[in-house]
Amino acid sequence: MLIYRAYVSLHLFKTKMKVIDHIHQAKDTLISFEILPPLKGRGIHTLYQHLDPLMEYKPSYINVTYHRSEHVYKKKADGTFDKVVVRKRPGTEAICAAIMNKYNVDTVPHLICGGFGINETEDALINLHYLGIDNVLVLRGDAAKNETSFEPEPGGHKYAVDLLKQVNNLNSGIYIEQDLKNTSQTKFCIGVAGYPEKHFEAPNMANDLQYLKQKVDAGADYIVTQMFFDNEKYFTFEKACRAIGITVPIIPGLKPVYTKKQLTVLPKTFHIDLPAELANEMSKCQTDESVEQLGTEWLLHQSKELKKWGVPVLHYYTLGKPDIVSNVVKAL
Ligand SMILES: Cc1cc2nc3c(=O)[nH]c(=O)nc-3n(C[C@H](O)[C@H](O)[C@H](O)COP(=O)(O)OP(=O)(O)OC[C@H]3O[C@@H](n4cnc5c(N)ncnc54)[C@H](O)[C@@H]3O)c2cc1C
Repeated sequence: MLIYRAYVSLHLFKTKMKVIDHIHQAKDTLISFEILPPLKGRGIHTLYQHLDPLMEYKPSYINVTYHRSEHVYKKKADGTFDKVVVRKRPGTEAICAAIMNKYNVDTVPHLICGGFGINETEDALINLHYLGIDNVLVLRGDAAKNETSFEPEPGGHKYAVDLLKQVNNLNSGIYIEQDLKNTSQTKFCIGVAGYPEKHFEAPNMANDLQYLKQKVDAGADYIVTQMFFDNEKYFTFEKACRAIGITVPIIPGLKPVYTKKQLTVLPKTFHIDLPAELANEMSKCQTDESVEQLGTEWLLHQSKELKKWGVPVLHYYTLGKPDIVSNVVKAL
Protein backbone atom coordinates (compact mmCIF):
# COMPACT_ATOMS: atom_id res chain seq x y z
CA MET A 1 0.00 0.00 0.00
CA LEU A 2 2.77 2.39 0.98
CA ILE A 3 4.65 1.64 -2.21
CA TYR A 4 1.48 2.21 -4.22
CA ARG A 5 0.92 5.55 -2.49
CA ALA A 6 4.48 6.63 -3.23
CA TYR A 7 4.01 5.57 -6.86
CA VAL A 8 0.76 7.51 -7.11
CA SER A 9 2.25 10.65 -5.63
CA LEU A 10 5.21 10.46 -7.98
CA HIS A 11 3.45 9.49 -11.18
CA LEU A 12 -0.14 10.60 -10.95
CA PHE A 13 0.77 14.07 -12.17
CA LYS A 14 3.68 15.25 -14.23
CA THR A 15 4.42 18.61 -12.66
CA LYS A 16 6.55 21.47 -13.87
CA MET A 17 5.09 21.43 -17.31
CA LYS A 18 3.83 24.35 -19.26
CA VAL A 19 0.18 24.40 -20.27
CA ILE A 20 1.21 24.44 -23.93
CA ASP A 21 3.36 21.31 -23.43
CA HIS A 22 0.47 19.54 -21.69
CA ILE A 23 -1.63 20.34 -24.76
CA HIS A 24 1.00 19.30 -27.30
CA GLN A 25 1.67 16.00 -25.53
CA ALA A 26 -2.00 15.10 -24.97
CA LYS A 27 -3.65 12.23 -26.81
CA ASP A 28 -7.14 13.29 -25.77
CA THR A 29 -9.00 16.33 -24.44
CA LEU A 30 -7.50 17.44 -21.12
CA ILE A 31 -9.26 18.67 -17.99
CA SER A 32 -8.34 21.77 -15.98
CA PHE A 33 -10.01 23.53 -13.06
CA GLU A 34 -10.15 27.12 -11.92
CA ILE A 35 -10.47 28.12 -8.29
CA LEU A 36 -10.63 31.32 -6.24
CA PRO A 37 -8.39 31.98 -3.23
CA PRO A 38 -10.41 31.60 -0.01
CA LEU A 39 -11.92 34.71 1.56
CA LYS A 40 -9.45 36.34 3.93
CA GLY A 41 -9.79 34.79 7.38
CA ARG A 42 -10.77 31.34 6.10
CA GLY A 43 -7.91 28.87 6.14
CA ILE A 44 -6.37 27.15 3.16
CA HIS A 45 -8.02 23.91 4.38
CA THR A 46 -11.30 25.24 2.88
CA LEU A 47 -9.60 25.23 -0.49
CA TYR A 48 -8.26 21.71 0.00
CA GLN A 49 -11.77 20.50 0.93
CA HIS A 50 -12.94 21.99 -2.37
CA LEU A 51 -10.09 20.50 -4.38
CA ASP A 52 -9.76 17.04 -2.79
CA PRO A 53 -12.70 15.46 -4.65
CA LEU A 54 -11.69 17.13 -7.93
CA MET A 55 -8.12 15.83 -7.92
CA GLU A 56 -9.43 12.32 -8.58
CA TYR A 57 -10.02 13.44 -12.18
CA LYS A 58 -6.33 14.18 -12.76
CA PRO A 59 -6.53 17.76 -14.00
CA SER A 60 -3.51 18.77 -16.06
CA TYR A 61 -3.32 22.07 -14.20
CA ILE A 62 -5.25 24.29 -11.80
CA ASN A 63 -5.81 28.02 -12.41
CA VAL A 64 -5.97 30.36 -9.41
CA THR A 65 -7.70 33.71 -9.92
CA TYR A 66 -6.32 37.06 -8.77
CA HIS A 67 -8.41 39.57 -6.82
CA ARG A 68 -7.32 43.17 -6.47
CA SER A 69 -7.99 45.34 -3.42
CA GLU A 70 -11.21 47.30 -3.17
CA HIS A 71 -12.16 50.53 -1.49
CA VAL A 72 -15.07 50.06 0.91
CA TYR A 73 -16.82 52.41 3.29
CA LYS A 74 -16.98 51.16 6.89
CA LYS A 75 -19.46 52.77 9.25
CA LYS A 76 -18.00 54.13 12.47
CA ALA A 77 -19.68 54.35 15.89
CA ASP A 78 -20.43 58.06 15.35
CA GLY A 79 -22.34 57.29 12.14
CA THR A 80 -19.67 58.63 9.76
CA PHE A 81 -17.82 56.42 7.29
CA ASP A 82 -14.17 55.54 6.87
CA LYS A 83 -12.90 54.74 3.38
CA VAL A 84 -10.68 51.68 3.76
CA VAL A 85 -8.81 49.41 1.40
CA VAL A 86 -9.61 45.71 1.73
CA ARG A 87 -8.29 42.73 -0.13
CA LYS A 88 -10.89 39.99 0.22
CA ARG A 89 -9.07 37.11 -1.46
CA PRO A 90 -5.31 37.48 -1.14
CA GLY A 91 -2.70 34.80 -1.72
CA THR A 92 -2.84 33.76 -5.40
CA GLU A 93 0.90 33.05 -5.79
CA ALA A 94 1.25 31.28 -2.42
CA ILE A 95 -1.85 29.19 -3.10
CA CYS A 96 -0.38 28.07 -6.43
CA ALA A 97 2.78 26.94 -4.65
CA ALA A 98 0.78 25.23 -1.88
CA ILE A 99 -1.36 23.33 -4.42
CA MET A 100 1.71 22.22 -6.37
CA ASN A 101 3.28 21.02 -3.17
CA LYS A 102 0.20 19.20 -1.85
CA TYR A 103 -1.16 17.63 -5.05
CA ASN A 104 1.88 17.58 -7.30
CA VAL A 105 -0.04 19.29 -10.09
CA ASP A 106 0.85 22.29 -12.25
CA THR A 107 -0.74 25.61 -11.44
CA VAL A 108 -1.53 28.75 -13.42
CA PRO A 109 -1.69 31.95 -11.40
CA HIS A 110 -3.71 34.78 -12.91
CA LEU A 111 -1.85 38.07 -13.08
CA ILE A 112 -3.65 41.35 -13.73
CA CYS A 113 -2.70 44.92 -14.65
CA GLY A 114 -5.14 46.54 -12.20
CA GLY A 115 -3.50 47.64 -8.96
CA PHE A 116 0.01 46.79 -10.17
CA GLY A 117 2.83 49.13 -11.11
CA ILE A 118 5.48 47.61 -13.36
CA ASN A 119 7.89 47.07 -10.44
CA GLU A 120 5.28 45.14 -8.45
CA THR A 121 4.53 43.09 -11.56
CA GLU A 122 8.20 42.28 -11.96
CA ASP A 123 8.44 41.27 -8.27
CA ALA A 124 5.38 39.01 -8.62
CA LEU A 125 6.91 37.34 -11.69
CA ILE A 126 10.25 36.87 -9.94
CA ASN A 127 8.44 35.26 -6.98
CA LEU A 128 6.63 32.87 -9.33
CA HIS A 129 9.89 32.05 -11.07
CA TYR A 130 11.56 31.26 -7.73
CA LEU A 131 8.58 29.08 -6.78
CA GLY A 132 9.06 27.04 -9.94
CA ILE A 133 5.81 28.19 -11.54
CA ASP A 134 6.25 28.55 -15.30
CA ASN A 135 2.68 29.37 -16.26
CA VAL A 136 0.74 32.58 -16.04
CA LEU A 137 -2.64 33.81 -17.34
CA VAL A 138 -2.16 37.45 -18.23
CA LEU A 139 -5.21 39.71 -17.86
CA ARG A 140 -6.09 43.36 -17.61
CA GLY A 141 -8.63 42.98 -14.78
CA ASP A 142 -11.86 44.92 -14.43
CA ALA A 143 -12.35 48.46 -13.19
CA ALA A 144 -12.08 48.79 -9.41
CA LYS A 145 -15.48 48.98 -7.66
CA ASN A 146 -15.15 52.75 -7.19
CA GLU A 147 -14.14 53.43 -10.83
CA THR A 148 -16.46 53.82 -13.80
CA SER A 149 -13.86 52.45 -16.22
CA PHE A 150 -10.55 50.65 -15.87
CA GLU A 151 -7.73 52.91 -14.64
CA PRO A 152 -4.18 51.56 -14.68
CA GLU A 153 -1.91 52.26 -11.72
CA PRO A 154 0.41 55.21 -12.35
CA GLY A 155 3.08 53.72 -14.59
CA GLY A 156 1.19 50.42 -14.72
CA HIS A 157 -0.20 48.59 -17.73
CA LYS A 158 -3.36 49.68 -19.52
CA TYR A 159 -4.03 46.49 -21.51
CA ALA A 160 -3.25 42.82 -21.07
CA VAL A 161 -0.96 43.01 -24.12
CA ASP A 162 1.32 45.47 -22.28
CA LEU A 163 1.61 43.13 -19.29
CA LEU A 164 2.28 40.28 -21.70
CA LYS A 165 5.19 42.22 -23.18
CA GLN A 166 6.69 42.63 -19.70
CA VAL A 167 6.46 38.85 -19.15
CA ASN A 168 8.08 38.31 -22.54
CA ASN A 169 10.88 40.69 -21.59
CA LEU A 170 11.63 38.67 -18.45
CA ASN A 171 11.55 35.52 -20.59
CA SER A 172 14.37 37.18 -22.55
CA GLY A 173 16.23 38.20 -19.38
CA ILE A 174 15.25 41.88 -19.75
CA TYR A 175 14.45 43.42 -16.36
CA ILE A 176 13.29 46.97 -15.59
CA GLU A 177 16.76 47.93 -14.34
CA GLN A 178 18.73 47.82 -17.53
CA ASP A 179 22.17 47.73 -15.89
CA LEU A 180 21.68 44.29 -14.28
CA LYS A 181 24.45 41.86 -15.22
CA ASN A 182 24.12 38.14 -16.07
CA THR A 183 20.35 38.16 -15.75
CA SER A 184 18.50 34.90 -15.68
CA GLN A 185 15.65 34.28 -18.12
CA THR A 186 12.25 33.19 -16.90
CA LYS A 187 10.30 30.70 -19.02
CA PHE A 188 6.67 31.57 -18.58
CA CYS A 189 4.06 30.00 -20.79
CA ILE A 190 1.51 32.76 -21.31
CA GLY A 191 -2.26 32.42 -21.60
CA VAL A 192 -4.68 35.25 -22.43
CA ALA A 193 -8.45 35.72 -22.26
CA GLY A 194 -10.81 35.61 -25.25
CA TYR A 195 -14.52 36.41 -25.44
CA PRO A 196 -16.81 34.31 -27.68
CA GLU A 197 -19.58 36.84 -26.99
CA LYS A 198 -17.23 39.90 -27.24
CA HIS A 199 -15.63 41.80 -24.39
CA PHE A 200 -18.25 44.21 -23.12
CA GLU A 201 -16.13 47.32 -23.73
CA ALA A 202 -15.25 46.47 -27.34
CA PRO A 203 -17.29 48.39 -29.92
CA ASN A 204 -17.73 45.25 -32.05
CA MET A 205 -16.52 41.68 -32.41
CA ALA A 206 -14.09 42.39 -35.27
CA ASN A 207 -12.33 45.01 -33.16
CA ASP A 208 -12.14 42.73 -30.13
CA LEU A 209 -10.71 39.92 -32.27
CA GLN A 210 -8.01 42.21 -33.65
CA TYR A 211 -6.92 43.01 -30.08
CA LEU A 212 -6.97 39.30 -29.27
CA LYS A 213 -4.75 38.71 -32.30
CA GLN A 214 -2.45 41.46 -31.05
CA LYS A 215 -2.00 39.47 -27.79
CA VAL A 216 -1.27 36.29 -29.72
CA ASP A 217 1.14 38.06 -32.08
CA ALA A 218 2.90 39.48 -29.01
CA GLY A 219 3.57 35.94 -27.79
CA ALA A 220 0.51 34.42 -26.06
CA ASP A 221 0.75 30.64 -26.20
CA TYR A 222 -2.98 29.93 -25.87
CA ILE A 223 -6.37 31.52 -25.24
CA VAL A 224 -8.89 30.65 -22.50
CA THR A 225 -12.42 31.82 -23.15
CA GLN A 226 -14.93 33.57 -21.00
CA MET A 227 -17.72 31.19 -19.97
CA PHE A 228 -20.47 30.54 -22.54
CA PHE A 229 -23.56 28.35 -22.38
CA ASP A 230 -24.21 27.90 -26.07
CA ASN A 231 -21.49 25.91 -27.83
CA GLU A 232 -22.35 27.56 -31.16
CA LYS A 233 -20.83 30.74 -29.69
CA TYR A 234 -17.52 28.91 -29.19
CA PHE A 235 -17.60 27.29 -32.64
CA THR A 236 -18.25 30.65 -34.34
CA PHE A 237 -15.57 32.36 -32.24
CA GLU A 238 -13.01 29.68 -33.03
CA LYS A 239 -13.73 29.95 -36.77
CA ALA A 240 -13.46 33.76 -36.61
CA CYS A 241 -10.12 33.50 -34.80
CA ARG A 242 -8.74 31.05 -37.36
CA ALA A 243 -10.00 33.26 -40.20
CA ILE A 244 -7.82 36.17 -39.01
CA GLY A 245 -4.76 33.99 -38.49
CA ILE A 246 -4.95 33.10 -34.78
CA THR A 247 -3.53 29.60 -34.66
CA VAL A 248 -2.91 28.98 -30.93
CA PRO A 249 -5.11 26.55 -28.92
CA ILE A 250 -8.43 28.03 -27.76
CA ILE A 251 -9.55 26.53 -24.45
CA PRO A 252 -13.26 26.76 -23.65
CA GLY A 253 -14.14 28.05 -20.17
CA LEU A 254 -17.17 26.26 -18.72
CA LYS A 255 -19.24 27.04 -15.66
CA PRO A 256 -22.10 25.18 -14.02
CA VAL A 257 -25.42 26.96 -13.41
CA TYR A 258 -27.08 25.81 -10.22
CA THR A 259 -29.39 28.59 -8.99
CA LYS A 260 -32.24 30.50 -10.62
CA LYS A 261 -30.60 33.72 -9.50
CA GLN A 262 -27.76 33.03 -11.95
CA LEU A 263 -30.22 33.56 -14.81
CA THR A 264 -29.96 37.28 -14.15
CA VAL A 265 -26.61 37.52 -12.34
CA LEU A 266 -24.45 35.80 -14.99
CA PRO A 267 -25.52 37.95 -17.96
CA LYS A 268 -25.16 41.11 -15.86
CA THR A 269 -21.77 40.23 -14.37
CA PHE A 270 -20.11 38.54 -17.31
CA HIS A 271 -21.91 40.15 -20.27
CA ILE A 272 -22.96 36.82 -21.76
CA ASP A 273 -26.27 35.36 -22.94
CA LEU A 274 -27.99 32.32 -21.53
CA PRO A 275 -29.71 30.29 -24.27
CA ALA A 276 -33.53 30.50 -24.27
CA GLU A 277 -33.87 26.73 -23.80
CA LEU A 278 -31.73 26.75 -20.66
CA ALA A 279 -33.42 29.85 -19.23
CA ASN A 280 -36.94 28.52 -19.97
CA GLU A 281 -36.28 25.07 -18.53
CA MET A 282 -34.65 26.55 -15.45
CA SER A 283 -37.49 28.92 -14.72
CA LYS A 284 -39.86 25.92 -14.73
CA CYS A 285 -37.82 24.10 -12.05
CA GLN A 286 -39.63 23.87 -8.70
CA THR A 287 -36.79 22.81 -6.38
CA ASP A 288 -33.09 23.61 -5.87
CA GLU A 289 -32.33 19.96 -6.67
CA SER A 290 -34.08 20.14 -10.04
CA VAL A 291 -32.18 23.35 -10.91
CA GLU A 292 -28.90 21.66 -10.04
CA GLN A 293 -29.87 18.57 -12.02
CA LEU A 294 -30.63 20.69 -15.09
CA GLY A 295 -27.38 22.65 -14.69
CA THR A 296 -25.42 19.38 -14.47
CA GLU A 297 -27.09 17.95 -17.58
CA TRP A 298 -26.46 21.18 -19.50
CA LEU A 299 -22.79 21.27 -18.57
CA LEU A 300 -22.38 17.59 -19.45
CA HIS A 301 -23.99 18.11 -22.83
CA GLN A 302 -21.75 21.12 -23.53
CA SER A 303 -18.65 19.19 -22.42
CA LYS A 304 -19.42 16.11 -24.55
CA GLU A 305 -20.08 18.19 -27.63
CA LEU A 306 -16.92 20.28 -27.18
CA LYS A 307 -14.85 17.15 -26.60
CA LYS A 308 -16.23 15.66 -29.82
CA TRP A 309 -15.38 18.92 -31.61
CA GLY A 310 -11.78 18.32 -30.49
CA VAL A 311 -11.12 21.13 -28.01
CA PRO A 312 -7.67 20.83 -26.40
CA VAL A 313 -8.83 21.25 -22.80
CA LEU A 314 -12.15 21.49 -20.96
CA HIS A 315 -11.52 24.26 -18.41
CA TYR A 316 -14.06 24.34 -15.56
CA TYR A 317 -14.78 27.35 -13.38
CA THR A 318 -15.48 25.33 -10.24
CA LEU A 319 -16.33 28.35 -8.03
CA GLY A 320 -18.06 26.85 -5.03
CA LYS A 321 -19.60 23.93 -6.92
CA PRO A 322 -17.00 21.17 -7.13
CA ASP A 323 -19.69 18.45 -6.87
CA ILE A 324 -21.42 19.43 -10.13
CA VAL A 325 -18.10 19.62 -11.95
CA SER A 326 -17.08 16.24 -10.42
CA ASN A 327 -20.29 14.61 -11.65
CA VAL A 328 -19.84 16.03 -15.13
CA VAL A 329 -16.19 15.04 -15.47
CA LYS A 330 -16.99 11.55 -14.11
CA ALA A 331 -19.69 11.11 -16.75
CA LEU A 332 -17.54 12.28 -19.68
C1 LIG B 1 -10.49 33.17 -18.53
C2 LIG B 1 -10.64 34.45 -17.75
C3 LIG B 1 -10.04 34.57 -16.48
C4 LIG B 1 -10.14 35.77 -15.76
N1 LIG B 1 -9.55 35.85 -14.52
C5 LIG B 1 -9.57 37.04 -13.85
C6 LIG B 1 -8.89 37.18 -12.60
O1 LIG B 1 -8.30 36.24 -12.08
N2 LIG B 1 -8.91 38.38 -11.98
C7 LIG B 1 -9.57 39.46 -12.53
O2 LIG B 1 -9.57 40.54 -11.92
N3 LIG B 1 -10.23 39.35 -13.72
C8 LIG B 1 -10.24 38.17 -14.38
N4 LIG B 1 -10.90 38.06 -15.59
C9 LIG B 1 -11.68 39.21 -16.09
C10 LIG B 1 -10.85 40.13 -17.02
O3 LIG B 1 -9.83 40.74 -16.27
C11 LIG B 1 -11.82 41.17 -17.58
O4 LIG B 1 -12.69 40.57 -18.50
C12 LIG B 1 -11.21 42.43 -18.14
O5 LIG B 1 -12.26 43.39 -18.32
C13 LIG B 1 -10.51 42.28 -19.49
O6 LIG B 1 -9.36 41.57 -19.38
P1 LIG B 1 -8.51 41.17 -20.70
O7 LIG B 1 -7.29 40.54 -20.21
O8 LIG B 1 -9.36 40.44 -21.64
O9 LIG B 1 -8.19 42.64 -21.23
P2 LIG B 1 -7.59 43.26 -22.63
O10 LIG B 1 -7.12 42.13 -23.49
O11 LIG B 1 -6.63 44.26 -22.21
O12 LIG B 1 -8.88 43.85 -23.27
C14 LIG B 1 -9.71 44.78 -22.55
C15 LIG B 1 -10.53 45.61 -23.54
O13 LIG B 1 -9.69 46.50 -24.25
C16 LIG B 1 -9.68 46.23 -25.64
N5 LIG B 1 -8.29 46.29 -26.03
C17 LIG B 1 -7.34 45.33 -25.83
N6 LIG B 1 -6.13 45.76 -26.26
C18 LIG B 1 -6.31 47.04 -26.69
C19 LIG B 1 -5.44 48.02 -27.21
N7 LIG B 1 -4.14 47.76 -27.42
N8 LIG B 1 -5.96 49.23 -27.56
C20 LIG B 1 -7.30 49.50 -27.39
N9 LIG B 1 -8.16 48.59 -26.91
C21 LIG B 1 -7.69 47.38 -26.54
C22 LIG B 1 -10.32 44.87 -25.81
O14 LIG B 1 -11.03 44.76 -27.03
C23 LIG B 1 -11.25 44.80 -24.61
O15 LIG B 1 -12.47 45.46 -24.89
C24 LIG B 1 -10.86 36.86 -16.33
C25 LIG B 1 -11.47 36.74 -17.59
C26 LIG B 1 -11.36 35.54 -18.30
C27 LIG B 1 -12.04 35.42 -19.64
